[in-house]
Amino acid sequence: MGEITAKCTHCGGSNVVCGVRVDQTADAGRIGLAYKTKFVVIGTEPFHADVCDDCGTIVRLYVKTPGRAWYTK
Ligand SMILES: [Zn+2]
Repeated sequence: MGEITAKCTHCGGSNVVCGVRVDQTADAGRIGLAYKTKFVVIGTEPFHADVCDDCGTIVRLYVKTPGRAWYTK
């Protein structure tokens, strides 16, 4: 074995797909966490998700770049 695989918190299955991009189907822009940079007032850090391919539960929702100057207002 060796590799640690994510387990679904709902059905307990291990058929979890990691790192799926969270996207919109419409062209209304991105869904993500807002952050500030030197050049861009508000950037958007996209979500990634680990999703159980058996029951459809999103086991984990996260961004790949932590430590940004998150825009909190
Ligand atoms: Zn599941």
